[in-house]
This record gives sequence, structure tokens and C-alpha cells, in this order.
Amino acid sequence: IVVSVLKETQPQENRVAIDPEVTKKLVKNNMTVLVEKGAGASAYYSDASYEQAGAKVVNRQTALDDGNVIAVINNPGDETLAKLKAGQVILGLLNSLIEPAKMTALAEKNVSALSFELLPRTISRAQSMDVLSSQSSVAGYKAALVASDLYPKYFPMMITAAGTVKPAKVLVLGTGVAGLQAIGTAKRLGAVVSGYDVRAASKGEVESLGATFLTSSVANGSGSGGYARELTAEEQQAQQAELVGFIAQNDVIITTAQVPGHKPPLLVPQSSVDSAKPGTVFIDLAASNLGGNVASSKPDETITTDNQVMVVGAGNLASQLPNSASQLFSKNVQAVINALVVEDEIKIDPTDDVFKGLVATTGGEIINARLRKALK
Ligand code: NAD
Repeated sequence: IVVSVLKETQPQENRVAIDPEVTKKLVKNNMTVLVEKGAGASAYYSDASYEQAGAKVVNRQTALDDGNVIAVINNPGDETLAKLKAGQVILGLLNSLIEPAKMTALAEKNVSALSFELLPRTISRAQSMDVLSSQSSVAGYKAALVASDLYPKYFPMMITAAGTVKPAKVLVLGTGVAGLQAIGTAKRLGAVVSGYDVRAASKGEVESLGATFLTSSVANGSGSGGYARELTAEEQQAQQAELVGFIAQNDVIITTAQVPGHKPPLLVPQSSVDSAKPGTVFIDLAASNLGGNVASSKPDETITTDNQVMVVGAGNLASQLPNSASQLFSKNVQAVINALVVEDEIKIDPTDDVFKGLVATTGGEIINARLRKALK
């Protein structure tokens, strides 16, 4: 089996789907690994380090022509997808639910597409493959660091001969994988931290990190599969009203709230940004072109308002810790390849619980139920 690793094409993407360590493991398991020249450079992995791990460094065309499995972080774009041939497998965050028609085009060519957004995360066998968790965790950590860097005061309390400095107050809205990591990191930096979520189940997790859990008045905000549900318009209004008070009491607000299949909920209204104290930092990990958790956030932009408040639209923070993020992503990819390759052959069993989710298309058919619904 030949596994190809492509160089990412999106601007500001520094990660690579397979690192030299996983390359070594794949080679040991009888696979050939082809790495596009420079694929790991932005993640601090040189071509030489891949060669030492047993890979061949090749040009993009060869990687695309000769790979049985093509590993990427992001959907590589139309030009690359058009070059894939029948029988090949592409694996990555293919953005399948947002652009389902691209998966149909692959199905028509009998290319198999495995898209990490579709992974059924609650199945325990899938946990080692869960890039959403591994990358969210990196992003949450980095969010706290970015906030501490922008914040014009200390995070920890400082008792010095020149006087005492109060610790920063950090509020994390949405305490899933990213939020919990942001809480842990802000705590380690010495801030006073609180967390808020509509899933009451996250209270224990927040408190175990030494942070305060702010209870939401929204009744039972849990949806299916451990995720939040979308709130009704009335609940959203009530939530924004209760959050305004919490937000005003804090110096740094990190938001991570997502509801699968919906646009991110608006948690911080414009009035909270406008009335925040100078030096307040908002980091919106849910910033997207559809809108984010913070009213004025723009993806991949940092805005400083007239009242000296910073609003960071953090679209892809994992990419700003490219070496660690790639290391974890690679392990997730390795777990998928281990499940995919049986006795030196690629076997995709469409009835297997994990593959039923992860596989967008195989054998010329769209097999993922969520994707089929999105295509209707
Ligand atoms: P996510 O990225 O979908 O959302 C982030 C957080 O935002 C969640 O905690 C969600 O409850 C919260 N949120 C959504 N709407 C909100 C609102 N209006 N107000 C406040 N908060 C809101 O979630 P995630 O980080 O991917 O994980 C969500 C849950 O799934 C967690 O409990 C996590 O532990 C669990 N999970 C389980 C597995 C597994 O079983 N293997 C894997 C991954 C995640």
C-alpha cells in the first residue's frame, strides 16, 4: 500500500497530515510513504527527516498518481480532487457537510473519501481517530496563550515590592474539548477562571480544573451524542441577557460554542463589546464566515475597537502550534490507516460502525447518512 502525504494549499495552514514518526510506523508495517516536497516544512519537519523515517520525497503529481491513500489536513481543492482516480482513498477534514457536492463528484469517479468531520465520536474505537478533539484541544490551549499575550496586564496575581497586581479574570463560554483546555491553560497562567455551558454535564469537568462553573438558566441545553442542541429564539435571548452580566465582570472572554450542523450561537452581543473595559480581550474560536459567538468577530482577523477592546476571530488556532497539532493529527490518521489496511489491502466495510460514519463515499455511493440528508 502506498500512502501519500500532500503539502497543504490553504493560506495560513502550517500543519501536515502525517509526521515523520508515523511515517516510520507505516513503513514498518510494510507500507510505502510518499511525501510531497516541503509538505512538513511549516510544521518544522524537514524533507530529510521524512527520508530518515523511510519515506520518499516526491513532487505533487507523483504523490497523487502513485498513492493508494492520500492524506491531507484540509480539502485540497477542486484542482487536486479532479486528479484523483478510481480506487484511490482520500482522508482528511474534507469539509464534506459544507460542500457535499464535491463528495458526489468523487463518488462518480469511484474515489473513496473519508472525512473526519463525519467520524462518530462517541464510539470508543473512534476516539484514537478523532481529529476534532485533538485539534480542538490544541486550539483551546493556544487561545489562552493568545489572550494572555494580547491582554495588557498580568494573568497571575503579582505581589511585588512595587505593589500588588490583581489576577486577570477569564471567562470561557462553551466548555467542550477546546473550552476545557483553555480553562486549564488560563489556570496554569494564574488567572481566576470561570466556565459556562448549556450542558449541565460539563459542570463537574470545569470544577475539576479548579474553575467556577456559571450555571445557565437554559433548561436542558444538551442535545444528542454529548453535544448541545440549538436553542430556541427565546432561549437565545434569555441567554444573551444573562451572559451580559457575566461578560462585564471579566477581562478576557474565550468563546468556543458550537452546535453541530448549525451556525455558531451568538453569545456576546455588540453591546457587550461596546461597553467592555479598555484592554478586554475576546477570543472567538467559533468565528466563521457565517458569524461566530462574538458579534463583531471576523475569521482570521484581530480587531481593536474604538474603546480599546480586542476581538480575535480565531479560525484555525491549531495551525499556530503546527508541530504538536500535526503530531496528534498524524496519530489520528495512523489509527484510520490501521483500520483501513487489512493484510496489505484496503478494505472499507460500509457496515462497520466507525466507517459508516467516517466514510463519505465508497464504491461509487454516498454512504454517510448525514451527508445523504445534506444532499437532498
Ligand atoms: P462543540 O465543539 O460542538 O461545542 C463546544 C461547546 O459549546 C460544547 O461544550 C457545547 O455544549 C457548547 N455550547 C453549544 N451551544 C452553546 C450555547 N448556546 N451556550 C453555551 N455553550 C454552548 O463540542 P465538543 O468540544 O466537540 O464536545 C462536546 C461534548 O462531546 C463534550 O462533552 C465532549 O467531552 C464530548 N465528546 C465526546 C467524545 C467521545 O465520547 N469520544 C469525543 C469528543 C467530544
